[in-house]
Amino acid sequence: MDLHALADDIRAGNRRALARAITLVESSRDDHRAQASELLTILGTQRQALRVGLSGTPGVGKSTFIESFGLMLTGQGLRVAVLAVDPSSARSGGSILGDKTRMERLSRDPNAFIRPSPSQSQLGGVARRSREAVALCEAAGFDVVLIETVGVGQSETQVSEMSDLFLLLLAPAGGDELQGVKRGIMEIADMILVNKADGELKSQATRTCADYAGALRLLRKRAQDPDDFPKALTVSAYEGAGLDASWDEINTLVAWRKANGIWDTRRSEQARYWFHEEVRMGLLSRLGKAGDLHDRMAQLEHEVSKGHQAPADAARQVIDALFAKETPKETP
Ligand code: GDP
Repeated sequence: MDLHALADDIRAGNRRALARAITLVESSRDDHRAQASELLTILGTQRQALRVGLSGTPGVGKSTFIESFGLMLTGQGLRVAVLAVDPSSARSGGSILGDKTRMERLSRDPNAFIRPSPSQSQLGGVARRSREAVALCEAAGFDVVLIETVGVGQSETQVSEMSDLFLLLLAPAGGDELQGVKRGIMEIADMILVNKADGELKSQATRTCADYAGALRLLRKRAQDPDDFPKALTVSAYEGAGLDASWDEINTLVAWRKANGIWDTRRSEQARYWFHEEVRMGLLSRLGKAGDLHDRMAQLEHEVSKGHQAPADAARQVIDALFAKETPKETP
């Protein structure tokens, strides 16, 4: 594969080249991994998109929102990519994030690019590939990259680590349900959007929004925010209400962060985060491939579960064995 030619095609905005490159970064084959790294190095990081993470439970209206919001942006002449991080896609077979049939009009828009979640069973694997896909979309000159995820476990944290800002989409709810949103997710949200603020649900959405605005004020104020952030707003993905206001607020936050050096700081902290993540994942993958160690691990796992070995001690034995294997002592 001619990686320089592929890089040129990506830079020129060729969508098929971008799709091919994303397939390459999603592959777990060793030779593909090496090519993917080389490609990303060739492409560099000169071009930056606005990376927006978006989370919400199934049914809250993510795909409807992305379609309306995306079309609004492409209508302004912006190029929009939509990626998805869905750790459950491999197993559940349920609603697939970033599914083109869920965003039919946007998927036909020449200024939009939609890519569903790679199907892999491990969140770590899905997330690192998605991060690289984000980098590819930036190199391809997209202005906005939307990264969709669903409210399960760790996926929000991982998506927020590859996003410049993070939106949490919620549905109108009764007061009791407010507690259902985990504090951790509230803490990483830069904006809460209460969707479905239309028809019969409108007044309920307004109340829910006020509740969340109150809850956000109670959270510790963050240094990366201007005084009145994080914010809660009502939107209707159906009617398009509140979408332009949300986009304005996003731009206000982005401008403030850029002016205060927070944009760059966050990106460099994120690079550091992914470096550590890559080391961790790389080590785990080496362990998985070392056949004899694999058996030893299974045995130790059994002993740990029986209480015959302490977890930390057993882990140290595995790691010592791995390094002994990797760096054989010189024989005198
Ligand atoms: P997702 O699972 O989060 O992607 O949610 P969908 O976008 O598939 O929407 C789930 C349901 O909510 C669908 O029946 C939508 O038609 C409906 N829905 C989405 N956005 C709105 C909205 O703004 N207003 C109303 N009333 N319903 C909406």
